[in-house]
Amino acid sequence: MSPRSHNLVFLGPPGAGKGTQAARWALRHGLAHISTGDLLRENLKDQTSVGMMAQDFMDRGVLVPDDVVCQMVRDRLEHQDTEPGFILDGFPRTVGQADALARDLARRHRPLTRVVSFAVREEDLVVRLAGRLTCGRCGRVFHQKSNAPKAQGVCDDCDGELFSRSDDSEETVLARLATYREETAPLLSWYRDRDLLTDIDASQSIEAVEGALERALECQ
Ligand code: AMP
Repeated sequence: MSPRSHNLVFLGPPGAGKGTQAARWALRHGLAHISTGDLLRENLKDQTSVGMMAQDFMDRGVLVPDDVVCQMVRDRLEHQDTEPGFILDGFPRTVGQADALARDLARRHRPLTRVVSFAVREEDLVVRLAGRLTCGRCGRVFHQKSNAPKAQGVCDDCDGELFSRSDDSEETVLARLATYREETAPLLSWYRDRDLLTDIDASQSIEAVEGALERALECQ
């Protein structure tokens, strides 16, 4: 991968597969994978002040306030593992977050090199999220039908127990999709105007999406 492709944002609605692709791409290229959803869930598990304030927002499928999430990402970007580069997964999700991120990264002389938009039709997202299984130990994501674990209820990678996220219930999924449409989708034109956006058809299989990502990022 060329050095220009190192500081990435994976953007897309819930269920588009950005977390799965981010984990694979980060591992292959030695980049830090920073998922704000995972960071918030860790905070929730550890009952930190951030976790306790975020819980109600997450349960309702709406966004945690920008200042809280931006500070969490700012702190995470201080870690040494981000030096070779990073993938931001699920962040930014509002124009305010994108603006704050651009200012933070400019200060560190580490601008974004590319924003990848993962597009999937909304009907398909509901089906994907309804069958989603997440590993309680390592966070890997499976699907009951399209990406089933080898043994039922057990993670292929770490033997952790798989569970359905409480915010993958139908009611919360619909709220999360509405939040995406209203607050996050405007980021597509925001990044397109800054010449950073690459679109990927994420309705294909995991391997096909990975191939498309490869072609998109390698010709940067
Ligand atoms: P995710 O795992 O990315 O689907 O995120 C789960 C939930 O965490 C979302 O529905 C939000 O409530 C919250 N969340 C994650 N990332 C962000 C973000 N960048 N800004 C605000 N809230 C977020």
